[in-house]
Amino acid sequence: MPLLLGAIADDYTGATDLANTLVKSGLATVQTIGPPDPGQPLDGLDAVVVALKSRTIPADEAVAQSLAALSRLQADGVRQVFFKYCSTFDSTDAGNIGPIADALMAALDTRFSLACPAFPGAGRTVYQGHLFVQDRLLSESSMRDHPLTPMTDADLVRVLGRQSTARVGLVPHGEVAAGAAAIRAAFGRPAADASNDGGGRRTIAIVDAISDADLMAIGQAAGDLKLITGGSGVAQGLADTYRADLAVRLTGAAGALPAVRGPEAVLSGSCSAATNQQVARAEAAGMATLRLDPLALADGRQSADTVLDWARPRLGAGPVLVAATAPPEAVQAVQDRLGRDAAGALVESTFADLARALVAAGVRRLVVAGGETSGAVVNALAVRALTIGPEIAPGVPATVSRGGDPVLALTLKSGNFGGPDFFADALAAMP
Ligand code: ADP
Repeated sequence: MPLLLGAIADDYTGATDLANTLVKSGLATVQTIGPPDPGQPLDGLDAVVVALKSRTIPADEAVAQSLAALSRLQADGVRQVFFKYCSTFDSTDAGNIGPIADALMAALDTRFSLACPAFPGAGRTVYQGHLFVQDRLLSESSMRDHPLTPMTDADLVRVLGRQSTARVGLVPHGEVAAGAAAIRAAFGRPAADASNDGGGRRTIAIVDAISDADLMAIGQAAGDLKLITGGSGVAQGLADTYRADLAVRLTGAAGALPAVRGPEAVLSGSCSAATNQQVARAEAAGMATLRLDPLALADGRQSADTVLDWARPRLGAGPVLVAATAPPEAVQAVQDRLGRDAAGALVESTFADLARALVAAGVRRLVVAGGETSGAVVNALAVRALTIGPEIAPGVPATVSRGGDPVLALTLKSGNFGGPDFFADALAAMP
């Protein structure tokens, strides 16, 4: 049977988050790093999640990569496409959520799609088109200080409107709460408007959701759409929809992962509030910790080599933690000196070199904090695909690399996810 769902994720931790949701709901799912290799068999799978690192690259490159991923999924006869981005809608006014959504809609020849980043389980809800993180508007949450994609506007109709050529509408919570039929009717409404204006313009509707029940209803209503865009939450209802609408039997579910033995390392490049707390807790609990200082990296006082010299004698005696994680004032000071993108690139390339060196030194179990950071590390390790295992925290599964050598146990954590003791929790839960 062809793939029921093909997803394109704009970062690697977002991809594992979505793959985790799909596996939990019963879809046999694999995550690939970049489009699946041409020879890679996808038979027997219900869903593939293609992880890209396209969130903060130039919009035209992000579009090209997303379209290449789409072509590969279409070659497998994919039935429905999902464009996955962060539940905090991480993007800049230049994109890349809008440009990628526009390009996918054009390639799929569809005039309507929805945008729903809500993930109530992780405290992200959308009400009247406004995105909340816990009890704060997005623009008043710690996301306003994100090193690469500071989010200073919580009105998603406005945010997406600045990025997309489509008309951006809203399905408000009153309609969502009325259930799948009402949502489906609302989906038809903007499309009808668009055909009336004669412009042939595409429409993307921001869809409110404040509970998992809302997301299940949206999933039911979205079963026929060629393209869904959003966070992992809106995928929760898709498996039930496929079961009901397509009468398919789904066989997936997280199986046991193979045991992976060897020294452990935690690489933390996220500067989110949650990760700052997790690093502080791990260090206070006695985990061997080394702080990366981007200014020291820039002038050569620190490098992947000096970090490896520190780590090597400690490997195997417990996890080593290397963290560039810093509070907003420190990140700002670094960015003032080095520039925002250059600072991020320097830290990411250091983690990439370090990950390669650590694995060469025997490390087999890695926890990585940060979406961009995970992308840099997984690319450096030439991991091509991941098998998804049990959930460690909402949105974060344990995974094991597939088909490469050596086999690695990898936990990839998006910045804001996980409880205060996440690093210890993850290492305990990994196979
Ligand atoms: P998140 O998942 O929290 O968004 P990311 O890894 O995606 O985390 O993004 C964090 C970005 O901040 C990365 O590009 C990383 O290299 C950069 N970074 C990490 N530490 C610092 C620092 N101390 N100063 C400036 N930038 C940093």
